[in-house]
Amino acid sequence: MKTVGQKHQVSPEVLRLLDEFRRMVNVCIAVGIEENVSSLKTLSMKSYHRLSRDMLSYYRLCAISKTTVILHNYRKAKKKNARTRFPNARKLMLTTCYGFKIQNGLLRLPVRRRRYVYVKLNSHTLHVLSGVSVRSVTLTPDSLSLTYSKETIEIEPEGYVGIDRNLDNATSASTDGTVKTFDLSMATRIKTDYRIVKSQFKRNDARIRTRISSKCGERQRNRVQPLLHNVSKRIVEDAKTRRVGIVMEKLTGIRRLYQKGNGQSRNYRARMNSWSYGELQRQIEYKARWEGVRVIYVPARNTSKRCSICGYKTLESTQRRLWCPHCGAILDRDENAARNIAAGGLRFSPNGPPGEAMVEEREPENATIIFKVDGGKISHQCDETYQNP
Ligand SMILES: [Zn+2]
Repeated sequence: MKTVGQKHQVSPEVLRLLDEFRRMVNVCIAVGIEENVSSLKTLSMKSYHRLSRDMLSYYRLCAISKTTVILHNYRKAKKKNARTRFPNARKLMLTTCYGFKIQNGLLRLPVRRRRYVYVKLNSHTLHVLSGVSVRSVTLTPDSLSLTYSKETIEIEPEGYVGIDRNLDNATSASTDGTVKTFDLSMATRIKTDYRIVKSQFKRNDARIRTRISSKCGERQRNRVQPLLHNVSKRIVEDAKTRRVGIVMEKLTGIRRLYQKGNGQSRNYRARMNSWSYGELQRQIEYKARWEGVRVIYVPARNTSKRCSICGYKTLESTQRRLWCPHCGAILDRDENAARNIAAGGLRFSPNGPPGEAMVEEREPENATIIFKVDGGKISHQCDETYQNP
C-alpha cells in the first residue's frame, strides 16, 4: 500500500462533515473504553446504533474502524506508561473506503445521500493512480490523500544483501561480495545542529518551548527525510536489479543501550540516540515490499564484533578497523557488520548452512479492516496489508 496526497481546501459543507466524523470517532472511543472493548466486531455492535442516523452508514463504519486503531494504540501506550491520557480525536479528518469514485480526473465524494462534492485531482495524483486500485480516501481541512495498492509477486532471491546503519553511513554488503557505502553524515550533522539550537532556548516557559521545539523538529524532519528516502530508494533499486533479498538487524531495545546511567557521556548518548535507523528500516521495508524484494530481520547479536570470515571474536584496531586474532584478517568495521548481517540471511535460503537461525519477518504494524455492507447486514474482514493513513 502506498499513499499519494495533494493540497486541497475543503468547502464549509465538507468541513461540517469532517466535524461530524470526528464527533462520531469520539463517541466510539467513549463507548470502547466504557465497555472495555476494542475489537472491530464488538465495538461496532456496541456503538453503531449510537451514531447519528443522518450520517451515511459507511461513514459510521469507517469512524468505528478508525476508532479501533486509536484504541489499539491507546492500549499499547498504556501498557508502557500508566498515565497515558485518555484518547480524543482532535484533528479534523475523515477516512473512507467506500462511496468515492474517480472519473474524468475528478474525485466524487458523497456528503449526504445523493449529494456529492467533486475534487479535481492534479496531474501528479492522476499519473500515480493510473493502473492501480484506490483503496481509501482521507480528507483533512487542507489536504486529500488517496491510498492505493498493488499486487506484487515476491522475487525469489538469488542472494542476500545485509544493511548496517552506522552513525555516519549505511553500508550494504552482498553475498556475492559487493560492498557499498551510502553517506548519511549530512543527516547526523543536521540533527546535531538542531540539538544545539534547541539547547539554547532561554525562555523558561514550557508551552512556548514545546511550540518552538516542535517547529524545529518539523524543519529537521523536512531536511533529514529526503536524505533517507534517497538512500533507501537506492538500496531497494540495487537489490531489485541484482535479484537479492534484503537482510537487516532487528533493533528492538536499542534505545536502552544509550540511556542515562550507562556511563556514557551526555553528548555521546545524544548522538547515538539521534540515529534514524528505525526510519531508514521502515522506508527500506515498504519500498522493498512494493517492488517484491524479500526483507528479512535477523537478531542483532555480535554482528559488529564477530569476524565475518571465521566467526571468531575480533579485537578493536585503529580507525574503525577490527583485527581477528584467529585468522589474522584486518576488517573494516562497517563492512564486517554488513557481511555478518547478510550471512544471517543465507541461513534462510534452502541450501544455506543450518544453525541458530532465528530469522523472522517483521509483521505489518496495523491490520486493516474492511467492512462489507450488504442488505443492512454488516460483516467484517481483516486484511494484513494495511497502512494507517
Ligand atoms: Zn577471523
